[in-house]
Amino acid sequence: MKRFSKITIMILILSILLVGCGNNNDKVNENGGLNIVATTTIIGDAVRAIGGDKINLEILMGPGIDPHLYKASAGDMNKMQNADLIIYNGLHLEGKMSDVLEQMEKSSKNTYAAADVIDGSKLIESEDFEGAYDPHIWFDVELWMEVVKGIEEKIIEIDSDNQEYYNKNAKAYLKELDELHTYTKSRAGELSDEKRILITAHDAFNYFGLAYDFEVRGLQGLSTATEAGTSDVRNLADFIAEKEIAAIFIESSVPAKNMEALKNAVDSRGFTVEIGGELFSDSLGNPGTEEGNYVGTVKHNINTIVDGLLKWEELKWKII
Ligand code: ZN
Repeated sequence: MKRFSKITIMILILSILLVGCGNNNDKVNENGGLNIVATTTIIGDAVRAIGGDKINLEILMGPGIDPHLYKASAGDMNKMQNADLIIYNGLHLEGKMSDVLEQMEKSSKNTYAAADVIDGSKLIESEDFEGAYDPHIWFDVELWMEVVKGIEEKIIEIDSDNQEYYNKNAKAYLKELDELHTYTKSRAGELSDEKRILITAHDAFNYFGLAYDFEVRGLQGLSTATEAGTSDVRNLADFIAEKEIAAIFIESSVPAKNMEALKNAVDSRGFTVEIGGELFSDSLGNPGTEEGNYVGTVKHNINTIVDGLLKWEELKWKII
Protein backbone atom coordinates (compact mmCIF):
# COMPACT_ATOMS: atom_id res chain seq x y z
CA MET A 1 0.00 0.00 0.00
CA LYS A 2 2.80 2.34 0.99
CA ARG A 3 4.67 1.47 -2.21
CA PHE A 4 1.54 1.99 -4.30
CA SER A 5 1.03 5.46 -2.80
CA LYS A 6 4.55 6.43 -3.73
CA ILE A 7 3.99 5.38 -7.35
CA THR A 8 0.64 7.15 -7.42
CA ILE A 9 2.25 10.31 -6.12
CA MET A 10 5.02 10.06 -8.69
CA ILE A 11 2.50 9.59 -11.50
CA LEU A 12 0.54 12.53 -10.18
CA ILE A 13 3.65 14.74 -10.11
CA LEU A 14 4.61 13.61 -13.61
CA SER A 15 1.12 14.33 -14.92
CA ILE A 16 1.17 17.80 -13.40
CA LEU A 17 4.56 18.47 -14.98
CA LEU A 18 3.40 17.19 -18.37
CA VAL A 19 0.20 19.21 -18.26
CA GLY A 20 2.28 22.23 -17.26
CA CYS A 21 4.58 21.77 -20.26
CA GLY A 22 1.62 21.32 -22.56
CA ASN A 23 0.13 24.59 -21.37
CA ASN A 24 3.39 26.40 -21.94
CA ASN A 25 3.66 25.13 -25.48
CA ASP A 26 0.09 26.13 -26.15
CA LYS A 27 0.87 29.61 -24.90
CA VAL A 28 3.86 30.06 -27.20
CA ASN A 29 1.84 28.97 -30.19
CA GLU A 30 -1.71 29.55 -29.06
CA ASN A 31 -3.16 30.04 -32.54
CA GLY A 32 -0.67 27.83 -34.35
CA GLY A 33 0.41 30.96 -36.21
CA LEU A 34 3.73 32.60 -36.86
CA ASN A 35 5.74 33.90 -33.92
CA ILE A 36 6.94 37.35 -34.94
CA VAL A 37 9.21 39.64 -32.93
CA ALA A 38 9.25 43.36 -33.79
CA THR A 39 11.79 45.71 -32.26
CA THR A 40 9.77 48.96 -32.01
CA THR A 41 6.11 49.79 -31.36
CA ILE A 42 5.94 51.45 -34.79
CA ILE A 43 6.99 48.30 -36.66
CA GLY A 44 4.89 46.18 -34.31
CA ASP A 45 1.78 48.17 -35.23
CA ALA A 46 2.25 47.49 -38.96
CA VAL A 47 2.91 43.80 -38.28
CA ARG A 48 -0.22 43.55 -36.13
CA ALA A 49 -2.35 45.29 -38.77
CA ILE A 50 -1.29 42.73 -41.40
CA GLY A 51 -0.88 39.62 -39.29
CA GLY A 52 -4.09 40.01 -37.24
CA ASP A 53 -5.01 36.85 -35.37
CA LYS A 54 -2.84 34.59 -37.53
CA ILE A 55 0.30 35.64 -35.71
CA ASN A 56 1.72 35.90 -32.20
CA LEU A 57 3.47 39.24 -31.87
CA GLU A 58 6.13 40.26 -29.36
CA ILE A 59 7.39 43.86 -29.32
CA LEU A 60 10.75 44.29 -27.61
CA MET A 61 10.73 48.04 -26.89
CA GLY A 62 7.66 49.40 -25.11
CA PRO A 63 6.13 52.88 -25.47
CA GLY A 64 8.49 55.74 -24.63
CA ILE A 65 11.62 53.62 -25.08
CA ASP A 66 14.48 55.19 -27.04
CA PRO A 67 15.56 52.69 -29.76
CA HIS A 68 18.96 54.35 -30.25
CA LEU A 69 19.98 53.45 -26.69
CA TYR A 70 18.10 50.18 -26.20
CA LYS A 71 20.05 47.02 -25.41
CA ALA A 72 18.50 43.56 -25.75
CA SER A 73 17.76 41.81 -22.43
CA ALA A 74 18.09 38.07 -21.75
CA GLY A 75 14.31 37.84 -22.12
CA ASP A 76 14.52 39.52 -25.53
CA MET A 77 17.14 36.99 -26.63
CA ASN A 78 14.75 34.19 -25.70
CA LYS A 79 11.90 35.78 -27.62
CA MET A 80 14.10 36.20 -30.68
CA GLN A 81 15.36 32.64 -30.46
CA ASN A 82 11.77 31.36 -30.40
CA ALA A 83 10.62 33.58 -33.28
CA ASP A 84 9.83 32.48 -36.82
CA LEU A 85 10.58 36.00 -37.99
CA ILE A 86 12.35 39.01 -36.45
CA ILE A 87 11.44 42.37 -37.99
CA TYR A 88 13.53 45.43 -37.18
CA ASN A 89 13.78 48.92 -38.66
CA GLY A 90 17.40 48.86 -39.79
CA LEU A 91 19.51 51.84 -40.99
CA HIS A 92 21.14 51.60 -37.53
CA LEU A 93 18.04 52.76 -35.66
CA GLU A 94 18.60 49.91 -33.21
CA GLY A 95 22.23 51.00 -32.84
CA LYS A 96 22.98 49.03 -29.67
CA MET A 97 21.32 45.89 -30.95
CA SER A 98 23.31 45.48 -34.18
CA ASP A 99 25.56 42.74 -32.73
CA VAL A 100 22.60 40.78 -31.40
CA LEU A 101 20.70 41.07 -34.69
CA GLU A 102 23.80 39.99 -36.59
CA GLN A 103 24.17 37.04 -34.25
CA MET A 104 20.55 36.03 -34.96
CA GLU A 105 21.18 36.24 -38.70
CA LYS A 106 24.30 34.13 -38.40
CA SER A 107 22.38 31.47 -36.50
CA SER A 108 20.13 31.43 -39.61
CA LYS A 109 17.18 33.06 -37.87
CA ASN A 110 14.78 34.70 -40.26
CA THR A 111 15.49 38.42 -39.79
CA TYR A 112 14.15 41.28 -41.86
CA ALA A 113 15.15 44.96 -41.91
CA ALA A 114 11.92 46.81 -42.78
CA ALA A 115 13.74 49.83 -44.24
CA ASP A 116 15.54 47.69 -46.84
CA VAL A 117 12.56 47.88 -49.17
CA ILE A 118 13.02 51.64 -49.70
CA ASP A 119 14.92 52.74 -52.76
CA GLY A 120 18.22 54.40 -51.79
CA SER A 121 17.32 57.56 -53.73
CA LYS A 122 14.46 58.21 -51.30
CA LEU A 123 16.64 57.94 -48.21
CA ILE A 124 18.11 61.00 -46.50
CA GLU A 125 21.86 60.81 -46.08
CA SER A 126 23.33 61.48 -42.65
CA GLU A 127 25.29 64.73 -42.40
CA ASP A 128 27.37 63.35 -39.56
CA PHE A 129 28.25 59.84 -40.72
CA GLU A 130 29.35 59.25 -44.30
CA GLY A 131 27.50 56.45 -46.04
CA ALA A 132 24.84 56.28 -43.30
CA TYR A 133 21.19 57.21 -43.70
CA ASP A 134 18.54 58.76 -41.48
CA PRO A 135 16.60 55.80 -40.00
CA HIS A 136 13.38 57.73 -39.06
CA ILE A 137 11.45 56.67 -42.16
CA TRP A 138 8.00 56.35 -40.57
CA PHE A 139 6.66 59.93 -40.48
CA ASP A 140 6.45 60.25 -44.24
CA VAL A 141 3.25 58.24 -44.44
CA GLU A 142 3.67 57.50 -48.16
CA LEU A 143 7.14 56.12 -47.57
CA TRP A 144 5.87 54.08 -44.63
CA MET A 145 3.25 52.56 -46.93
CA GLU A 146 6.12 51.03 -48.94
CA VAL A 147 7.52 49.60 -45.72
CA VAL A 148 4.10 48.13 -44.85
CA LYS A 149 3.96 46.44 -48.28
CA GLY A 150 7.44 45.04 -47.70
CA ILE A 151 6.39 43.60 -44.33
CA GLU A 152 3.28 42.09 -45.98
CA GLU A 153 5.44 40.36 -48.61
CA LYS A 154 7.87 39.04 -46.01
CA ILE A 155 5.11 37.56 -43.84
CA ILE A 156 3.52 35.91 -46.90
CA GLU A 157 6.90 34.51 -47.94
CA ILE A 158 7.00 32.58 -44.67
CA ASP A 159 3.30 31.79 -44.33
CA SER A 160 1.85 31.58 -47.85
CA ASP A 161 -1.10 29.46 -46.65
CA ASN A 162 -2.68 32.61 -45.24
CA GLN A 163 -1.79 34.87 -48.15
CA GLU A 164 -5.37 35.92 -48.87
CA TYR A 165 -5.92 36.93 -45.24
CA TYR A 166 -2.73 39.01 -45.11
CA ASN A 167 -3.48 40.65 -48.48
CA LYS A 168 -6.94 41.67 -47.31
CA ASN A 169 -5.64 43.14 -44.04
CA ALA A 170 -2.80 45.00 -45.77
CA LYS A 171 -5.15 46.45 -48.38
CA ALA A 172 -7.49 47.84 -45.70
CA TYR A 173 -4.57 49.20 -43.68
CA LEU A 174 -2.95 50.85 -46.70
CA LYS A 175 -6.24 52.57 -47.52
CA GLU A 176 -6.28 53.96 -43.98
CA LEU A 177 -2.70 55.16 -44.38
CA ASP A 178 -3.50 56.81 -47.68
CA GLU A 179 -6.26 58.80 -45.96
CA LEU A 180 -3.84 59.63 -43.14
CA HIS A 181 -1.35 61.03 -45.66
CA THR A 182 -4.05 63.29 -47.15
CA TYR A 183 -5.13 64.41 -43.66
CA THR A 184 -1.55 65.25 -42.63
CA LYS A 185 -0.97 67.23 -45.84
CA SER A 186 -4.15 69.19 -45.39
CA ARG A 187 -3.41 70.09 -41.76
CA ALA A 188 0.13 71.18 -42.66
CA GLY A 189 -1.45 73.43 -45.31
CA GLU A 190 -3.06 75.50 -42.54
CA LEU A 191 0.34 77.05 -41.82
CA SER A 192 1.85 79.61 -44.16
CA ASP A 193 5.12 78.57 -45.83
CA GLU A 194 7.36 80.69 -43.59
CA LYS A 195 5.74 79.30 -40.43
CA ARG A 196 6.44 75.70 -41.33
CA ILE A 197 9.47 75.34 -39.10
CA LEU A 198 9.59 72.42 -36.68
CA ILE A 199 12.04 72.45 -33.78
CA THR A 200 12.26 69.18 -31.83
CA ALA A 201 14.54 67.32 -29.43
CA HIS A 202 16.36 65.16 -31.97
CA ASP A 203 16.44 64.72 -35.74
CA ALA A 204 13.50 62.33 -36.02
CA PHE A 205 11.36 64.41 -38.38
CA ASN A 206 13.47 64.91 -41.52
CA TYR A 207 11.32 62.60 -43.68
CA PHE A 208 8.22 64.23 -42.22
CA GLY A 209 9.67 67.64 -43.15
CA LEU A 210 10.44 66.57 -46.69
CA ALA A 211 6.98 65.05 -47.23
CA TYR A 212 4.92 67.83 -45.66
CA ASP A 213 7.13 70.78 -46.44
CA PHE A 214 8.54 71.75 -43.05
CA GLU A 215 12.03 73.00 -42.32
CA VAL A 216 13.14 70.74 -39.46
CA ARG A 217 15.80 71.32 -36.83
CA GLY A 218 16.57 68.86 -34.03
CA LEU A 219 18.60 69.83 -30.98
CA GLN A 220 20.35 66.45 -30.95
CA GLY A 221 21.43 64.67 -34.12
CA LEU A 222 20.03 61.57 -35.81
CA SER A 223 20.82 59.47 -32.76
CA THR A 224 20.17 60.45 -29.15
CA ALA A 225 23.43 58.66 -28.31
CA THR A 226 25.23 61.96 -29.00
CA GLU A 227 24.42 64.62 -26.40
CA ALA A 228 23.60 68.17 -27.52
CA GLY A 229 26.48 70.51 -26.70
CA THR A 230 26.22 74.10 -25.48
CA SER A 231 27.09 75.38 -28.96
CA ASP A 232 24.15 73.37 -30.41
CA VAL A 233 21.84 75.06 -27.90
CA ARG A 234 23.32 78.50 -28.70
CA ASN A 235 23.05 78.10 -32.48
CA LEU A 236 19.49 76.81 -32.36
CA ALA A 237 18.45 79.54 -29.88
CA ASP A 238 19.86 82.18 -32.29
CA PHE A 239 17.92 80.61 -35.15
CA ILE A 240 14.62 80.55 -33.19
CA ALA A 241 14.98 84.17 -32.05
CA GLU A 242 15.95 85.33 -35.55
CA LYS A 243 13.06 83.53 -37.26
CA GLU A 244 10.67 84.38 -34.40
CA ILE A 245 9.47 80.82 -34.09
CA ALA A 246 6.52 80.72 -31.68
CA ALA A 247 6.78 77.13 -30.40
CA ILE A 248 9.19 74.22 -30.02
CA PHE A 249 8.29 70.61 -29.23
CA ILE A 250 9.46 67.97 -26.78
CA GLU A 251 9.50 64.24 -27.62
CA SER A 252 8.06 61.38 -25.59
CA SER A 253 11.15 59.16 -25.86
CA VAL A 254 13.73 61.89 -25.15
CA PRO A 255 14.15 63.65 -21.76
CA ALA A 256 12.62 67.17 -21.84
CA LYS A 257 15.48 68.91 -20.02
CA ASN A 258 17.41 69.82 -23.19
CA MET A 259 14.39 71.51 -24.75
CA GLU A 260 13.82 73.44 -21.53
CA ALA A 261 17.45 74.61 -21.68
CA LEU A 262 16.82 75.67 -25.27
CA LYS A 263 13.71 77.61 -24.26
CA ASN A 264 15.68 79.40 -21.54
CA ALA A 265 18.43 80.25 -24.02
CA VAL A 266 15.88 81.76 -26.43
CA ASP A 267 14.17 83.68 -23.60
CA SER A 268 17.54 85.16 -22.61
CA ARG A 269 17.79 86.59 -26.13
CA GLY A 270 14.68 88.67 -25.47
CA PHE A 271 12.33 86.51 -27.50
CA THR A 272 9.80 84.18 -25.89
CA VAL A 273 9.34 80.71 -27.32
CA GLU A 274 6.81 78.27 -25.87
CA ILE A 275 6.86 74.50 -25.51
CA GLY A 276 4.11 73.68 -28.00
CA GLY A 277 3.43 70.15 -26.77
CA GLU A 278 4.82 66.62 -26.80
CA LEU A 279 5.40 64.68 -29.99
CA PHE A 280 5.87 60.95 -30.37
CA SER A 281 9.05 60.39 -32.34
CA ASP A 282 10.65 56.97 -32.03
CA SER A 283 7.80 55.22 -30.21
CA LEU A 284 4.01 55.17 -30.27
CA GLY A 285 1.90 56.09 -27.23
CA ASN A 286 0.56 53.69 -24.59
CA PRO A 287 -1.72 50.88 -25.79
CA GLY A 288 -5.39 51.73 -25.30
CA THR A 289 -4.83 55.46 -25.82
CA GLU A 290 -5.52 57.31 -29.07
CA GLU A 291 -1.79 57.46 -29.76
CA GLY A 292 -1.38 53.74 -29.04
CA ASN A 293 -1.27 53.00 -32.77
CA TYR A 294 0.56 54.48 -35.76
CA VAL A 295 -2.44 56.30 -37.29
CA GLY A 296 -3.33 57.93 -33.96
CA THR A 297 0.28 58.92 -33.35
CA VAL A 298 0.71 60.59 -36.74
CA LYS A 299 -2.57 62.47 -36.22
CA HIS A 300 -1.53 63.51 -32.71
CA ASN A 301 1.79 64.82 -34.01
CA ILE A 302 0.45 66.88 -36.91
CA ASN A 303 -2.38 68.27 -34.77
CA THR A 304 0.04 69.18 -31.95
CA ILE A 305 2.48 70.83 -34.36
CA VAL A 306 -0.09 72.84 -36.32
CA ASP A 307 -2.27 73.75 -33.32
CA GLY A 308 0.81 74.63 -31.22
CA LEU A 309 2.37 76.86 -33.86
CA LEU A 310 -0.96 78.57 -34.70
CA LYS A 311 -1.89 79.15 -31.06
CA TRP A 312 1.41 80.61 -29.92
CA GLU A 313 1.81 82.64 -33.09
CA GLU A 314 -1.60 84.22 -32.50
CA LEU A 315 -0.89 84.90 -28.80
CA LYS A 316 2.46 86.44 -29.66
CA TRP A 317 0.81 89.06 -31.86
CA LYS A 318 -1.89 89.74 -29.25
CA ILE A 319 0.81 90.44 -26.63
CA ILE A 320 2.65 92.80 -29.00
ZN1 ZN B 1 15.49 58.77 -33.23
